[in-house]
Amino acid sequence: MDCIFCKIANKEIPATIVYEDELVVAFDDMYPKAAHHKVIIPRKHIATLNDLQPTDEALAGHLLRTVATLAKQLGIAEEGYRLVMNCNAGGGQTVFHIHAHLLGGRQMQWPPG
Ligand code: 5GP
Ligand code: ZN
Repeated sequence: MDCIFCKIANKEIPATIVYEDELVVAFDDMYPKAAHHKVIIPRKHIATLNDLQPTDEALAGHLLRTVATLAKQLGIAEEGYRLVMNCNAGGGQTVFHIHAHLLGGRQMQWPPG
């Protein structure tokens, strides 16, 4: 499948992977939008949040817990961070393999742009 994030998960294209297990992979975003900007993906190709199935619930929960673990490892858990998941064009999604952006190391603003 011609998917950048599947290729990163399969090590077919390079990325700085900061965590991986049998279900998820986390790596540095190529164009960081904060001092800390990690992308966390499921190994399973799911195009958008709209495509999540009931059978993906444990996977989604594991992905969220991975974010919290990473935030602690990065030392930003207590000061705070932002988790972003963009869905489809109106939400700003550009890579159609679901992913969470973990952003930290600067003060976040609300509402986001
Ligand atoms: P989206 O806009 O879909 O929510 O986020 C996609 C993210 O993937 C963007 O922040 C973009 O910088 C990042 N990205 C796109 N292509 C690559 C790549 O080949 N390698 C890495 N590490 N990040 C990428
Ligand atoms: Zn994919």
